[in-house]
Amino acid sequence: MVDPAECTIKVMCRFRPLNKSEVERGDKYIPKFTGEDQVSISGKPFMFDRVFGSNTTQEQMYKASAQKIVKDVLDGYNGTIFAFGQTSSGKTHTMEGSLHDPDGMGIIPRIVQDIFNYIYSMDENLEFHIKVSYFEIYLDRIKDLLDGMYYVLWHIVPWFSVPDEVMDTIDEGKSNRHVAVTNMNEHSSRSHSIFQINVKQENTATEQKLSGKLYLVDLAGSEKVGKTGAEGAVLEEAKNINKSLSALGNVISALAEGSTYVPYRDSKMTRILQDSLGGNCRTTMVICASPSAYNEAETKSTLMFGQRAK
Ligand code: ADP
Ligand code: MG
Repeated sequence: MVDPAECTIKVMCRFRPLNKSEVERGDKYIPKFTGEDQVSISGKPFMFDRVFGSNTTQEQMYKASAQKIVKDVLDGYNGTIFAFGQTSSGKTHTMEGSLHDPDGMGIIPRIVQDIFNYIYSMDENLEFHIKVSYFEIYLDRIKDLLDGMYYVLWHIVPWFSVPDEVMDTIDEGKSNRHVAVTNMNEHSSRSHSIFQINVKQENTATEQKLSGKLYLVDLAGSEKVGKTGAEGAVLEEAKNINKSLSALGNVISALAEGSTYVPYRDSKMTRILQDSLGGNCRTTMVICASPSAYNEAETKSTLMFGQRAK
C-alpha cells in the first residue's frame, strides 16, 4: 500500500502581521506577494510551494499545510511538520496556537481533533492504538516533557474522552520545561520542541495492520546571535542551535536533491527524525517570517534556508 521510495518535501512560507511595537515604531511592511507561490523582499523573489500572507487564518493554514499529512499518516506513512524562523516569527502560533480556542488553534490541536474524528467515522473492525510523546532537545540533549515518555490516547477505546483533554496534557508538558515563567519564551526559543503522534491500526476482520508516525516540530529560533556580547552559556546555546539547524538544512536539501547520502547522523534531532524524513515520508517545512523592515536581514536568511529545500 505504501511505496517506500515515495517521499515528498513541501516548503511553505507564512508571514505574520506586524505586531504592536512594530506598528508603533512605524516599521514598513516589506513582503510583496506576487502569486500563490512567490513573495519578494526588496525586489528579491523567493519561490515556495505556497506562500501565506499575514491575514491567513489558522484553519486555512492547517488545511493547506497539514491536513493531507494526517490522512497519509493514517494510511501508514510517516510525516514531519517543522516550523522554522526567528524568534517571534509565529512558529508556536502556527504549531500550537491557542490550544483551547476553536479559531485560534494551530496545527497540533487540529491534528488531534482530526484523528479523533477520523476514528469515530471508521467502521468497528478497526482497532486503533495511538500514543503521543512530547519532548524538547536542548543543547543536543533530550528532555521528556510528559511525566514518563508517552501518553496513550487510544488503545482500542479512547483514553481521553475529548481532544481538549489532550491539549491539557500539552499544557502540562509545557510547564515541565522547568523554567521560571518569565523565561519561558526565551527558553522555548532556544530549544526544539517535538510532539510525536504514533498511530497503529489493525483490521480485526482481515488482520491487516498499518502504522504511521508524525513529528510536529517547533524549532529553536533561527536568528543569529550578535557576534559581540555572546559568551559562556549563551554562546554555547547559539553554536548548538546553529549546528542543529544547519544539520537539518543539509538533510532536507540532500533529500530534496535525491542524494544517495543523507547526513542524518550530524545532529540528535536529525537522528531522531530519520525514519520520518527519508523513505516513506511526508515532510512539510513552514517557514515563518516577520513582515517588518526592521527584520529584513533575518527574514531574507530565513527564506534562503527554505529555498535550499526546494
Ligand atoms: P515564535 O514561536 O516563532 O517565537 P510566536 O508564535 O510566539 O513566535 O509569535 C509571536 C507573537 O506573534 C505571539 O504573540 C503570536 O500570538 C503572534 N503571532 C504570530 N503569528 C501570528 C499570526 N499569523 N497572526 C496573528 N498573530 C500572530
Ligand atoms: Mg515559540
